[in-house]
This record gives sequence, C-alpha cells and structure tokens, in this order.
Amino acid sequence: MDNQYDIIVIGSGPGGYVSAIRAAQLGYKVAIVEKYNTLGGTCTNVGCIPAKALLDSSEHYHQAKEQFKTHGISLGGITLDFSQFISRKADVVKQNTAGLVYLMKKNKIDVHHGTGSFIDATHLQVTAADKSTVLTGRYFIIATGSKPSSIPGVTIDKKRIITSTEGLSLPSQPGSMIIIGGGVIGVEMASVYARIGTEVTIIEYTDSLIPTMDRELGKALYKTLGKLKIKILLGSKVQSAINNGSSASVSFLDAEGRPQEITADYCLVAVGRKAYTEGLNLQAVGITPEKNGKIKVNAQLQTVVPNIYAIGDVIDGPMLAHKAEDEGTFVAEVIHGGKPHIKYELIPAVVYTWPEVAAAGATEEQLRAQGVTYTVGKFPYMASARARASMDTDGFVKVLVSPQYGEVLGVHIIGPRAADVIAQAVVAMEYEITADDLSRLSYAHPTYSEVLKDAYLIATGKGAINI
Ligand code: FAD
Ligand code: NAD
Repeated sequence: MDNQYDIIVIGSGPGGYVSAIRAAQLGYKVAIVEKYNTLGGTCTNVGCIPAKALLDSSEHYHQAKEQFKTHGISLGGITLDFSQFISRKADVVKQNTAGLVYLMKKNKIDVHHGTGSFIDATHLQVTAADKSTVLTGRYFIIATGSKPSSIPGVTIDKKRIITSTEGLSLPSQPGSMIIIGGGVIGVEMASVYARIGTEVTIIEYTDSLIPTMDRELGKALYKTLGKLKIKILLGSKVQSAINNGSSASVSFLDAEGRPQEITADYCLVAVGRKAYTEGLNLQAVGITPEKNGKIKVNAQLQTVVPNIYAIGDVIDGPMLAHKAEDEGTFVAEVIHGGKPHIKYELIPAVVYTWPEVAAAGATEEQLRAQGVTYTVGKFPYMASARARASMDTDGFVKVLVSPQYGEVLGVHIIGPRAADVIAQAVVAMEYEITADDLSRLSYAHPTYSEVLKDAYLIATGKGAINI
C-alpha cells in the first residue's frame, strides 16, 4: 500500500461500503477506514442485521408456543435457550461482516482499521491501537454514521440503563424491561422481548406509536402489540431513570400529568440517534457540524469543502441503511461526473414487527396539510385468502391515489410480509404508473401482494369491498 488514493471513505457502514464498491467499480483507487475491528457499521454489527436475527428467532418461539397447536402441531414442552438465541444472532453478524471483508478484497479496496482524523483537506491520519498511518486522498466520503441519543435526566450507563446495542446482547433473559420511546427501535425491541416472555412496558412521549408514519399504522400497531401483552403508555413524559444495581426505575408524567414511577430489570432508551463526528477533526478542514450534530451538504452531497462529501446517518434525512446505501452509490457516481438521482420521498420505511409495517410516499396527514385531494383504497388482510390460510389476518393495505390523474401518492401497509410488498409500490410511484394500470396487472393467487391489487381496485372504484 502506498497510501495514496483517489477516494478515501471514512466509515464502513452501509453508506461507506457501498460507496467504496461503486467507486472501485468506476475505476478509482479506493481505501476504506473503519475504527472498529469488523466492517459493516451500525447496521451489520449492532443494528438492522442482529435486530432482524433476534426478531426472527423470537417470532419462531412465539409461533411455536402460541400458534402451532392451532395448526395441529404439538411439540411438548417448548423452552428458550437464551444463550443460543444470542449466539445464533452473533453468527449471523459474523457471516455478514466476513462477507464484507470478501467484497473489499474482491473489489481491490484497501481496508485501514483505525480512527480517521483529518490533517487537512487531502490528508487523513488513521490511528489504531498499535500504529498510526497518514493516507493521502483526492476525494473523501464521510460515512461515520450515528450513535444512540438520550434525554435530559436519563444517563445511559450500558448496565441497567441501556441502548439497543446492549439490548441485542444481554447476558440472560430479563424478566422485565421498560423501553423509553415507541419509535422503530422501541417497537422492534419490545417485540423481541415480549415474544419470549419478558414483561415489556413502552413509554412514548407522543400520542401514538411510530408517530412519524401514517397515523392509522400507529393505531393498528398499538392493537397488535397489545396482543403480545406489551404495556404501552402513550402521551407520557419521562423525567428520569436511575440504576438501582439489579434493576432500573423510570419516573414519568403520565397522560394525565400525574407523576408515576415504574421499575424493571432494564430500561432501554430508544429516543432517536444522533450524527457521529467525534474524532474526525473536522475543524482542520473548516467543516462545522450543525446544531443537531449533522454535517451540512448540498444537493450533490458535497460539504463546504469541495473534495469532501458526506452520506448516510451523519447527514440529514431518514436514518436508514438503504438511504445510506443509495447515497453511497450516488456520491461515487457524482465524483465520476455522472448525474444520478435519489427520490427521497420514495425511500421506504419499514418496521419489522409482526405483522410488519411498511410505507412509501405521502401520509394522509401530509396530503391533508398540503391541501392535496386524494382517494383512499384500503383492503384488510382479513379478507385475503392467503392471509387466512396462514392465520396472519391482522392489518391492511392503504393506497392514496390522485383522483385527477390516478397517480399513486402514498402506500401504507401493516400486514404479513409488508416489508417485501412495499418494493412494488415504490416502483409504481417512481415510474408514475397509475392505480388503474396497477389494478390491471396479474398478481399470483393466493399471495400477500394481491392485497395491494385489491387496494388499487378499490381506489379506482372497481373493488369488491371497501373498509
Ligand atoms: P453506520 O452504519 O453507523 O456506520 C458508520 C461507521 O463509521 C461505523 O462502523 C463507525 O465505527 C465508523 N466510524 C465513525 N467514525 C469514524 C472515524 N473517525 N474513523 C473511522 N471509522 C469511523 N436501518 C434500516 O434501513 N433497516 C433496519 O432494519 C434497521 N434496523 C436498525 C436497528 C437498530 C437496532 C439500529 C440501531 C439501527 C437500525 N437501522 C436500520 C438504521 C441503520 O443501522 C443506519 O441507518 C445505518 O447503519 C447508517 O449507515 P451509515 O453508513 O451512515 O453509518
Ligand atoms: P425514532 O425517532 O424512530 O423514535 C424515537 C421515539 O422516542 C419517538 O416516538 C419519540 O416520540 C420518542 N421519544 C422522544 N423523547 C421521548 C421522551 N422523553 N419520552 C418518551 N418517548 C420519547 O428513533 P429510534 O427508535 O431510537 O431509532 C433511531 C433511528 O434508527 C431511526 O431514525 C430509525 O429510522 C432507525 N432504525 C430503523 C429501523 C428500521 O428501519 N426497521 C429499525 C431500528 C432503527
């Protein structure tokens, strides 16, 4: 390695590794710098992948305990080996991080482990425990991601007052857990633990779960999570959390403004994440993060320093792995002189509860606020033959359609396999396929995706039912 590169990517999460691969494909000499021993960032190590692994294991356990007998399957005494539950998740993470090592090699990307710190706009110091190296680059892509944030009165000690990171690797199954925040992490972690028998309480500040999504989704999710016996306290303001040694207590004002205190084995804080730029020495290149810690970029994802770009959680926009990936590809192509595009409003949002929640495009609330008229096509899974066959009948698909042109404005789903079904809605919206055309396509029967067709049929006045 001569340590001279065309492009140096700082951070190996989904933003960083995707940008490095695209840049290498375009013929650049690329290095990726990662401060941890493994590649993959939050998503692969302590985010999307381990969370989905535990969500799947816990759903299997829950199904085996609660549903199998209805299918005529008897298994006898069903128990959970918690350490195997956690170690299978660790294996899944390992396979994914190993896959990334392979991808870096295959694409001839040099990997430098250590903290990247700017010396000036063309030099980066990489400091590891045993050595320090200086890399020279023509372009830099900052992809340093985010870390969990907290609220006043709540100090994360990683022992009893924890984040999702610790929650994904607990030493033994907790008897009880309080989760502060009913957003995406809150409801996913609540699902994992409630399904295996932990007593879970969610304390959410607003009057809805997943409050940034279409309101009807939050209401429906409230009902389905209730079936898992998760206690959900909405409109409740947390004031403090304390570690009692072997438990944690949380003080809050309930929906009526009355002070309350509850205690559980753990308090998991899931009130959002903040951009991470520590150690980058941004002042050396004249970049000042904004008040919320994010790096400001223009439409080309370029910072105030022309040869330094930033992508993913460290800049504005939804903190999602696929958003970071899309920006990774975008920025490599921009550097190459291309004109790629990202339609931010069509980046899908998915919550991996069961049933799953998935959405793309505008919510009813947004359309109403903008004064846009729309037609609703809504179809319940209860009326789907496929859903009935698998006893997955909770939820609905809701499509919002422009009455004038038939353009699809938004699609909101809570139901089985919603995470996969939403991809088709994104294609429809990206290429402006009308609801009428969509309702004339052939969908295999019986499938979960058919529910989307039924919603389009209803929106265009051809449905058999409406709810
Ligand atoms: P990150 O993945 O955070 O990666 C940044 C990397 O940069 C890290 O490896 C860090 O060590 C490294 N780094 C930081 N500073 C330096 C430095 N100075 N030098 C060298 N390296 C540095 N999103 C989804 O789309 N779907 C999901 O299902 C999903 N589930 C999630 C579940 C959980 C529990 C969490 C916490 C998040 C989840 N997310 C999910 C969000 C997703 O993980 C993030 O949006 C995504 O990882 C952001 O990617 P990134 O590349 O911007 O940054
Ligand atoms: P979030 O923004 O989704 O939810 C935070 C929740 O905490 C909100 O509902 C908010 O109202 C609530 N809250 C804030 N202050 C509070 C207080 N004082 N008391 C009680 N509740 C309070 O953030 P998150 O769940 O921490 O997730 C962080 C990021 O990670 C999100 O941006 C998300 O997109 C990403 N993520 C995505 C997935 C996925 O795509 N499936 C999964 C996990 C995380």
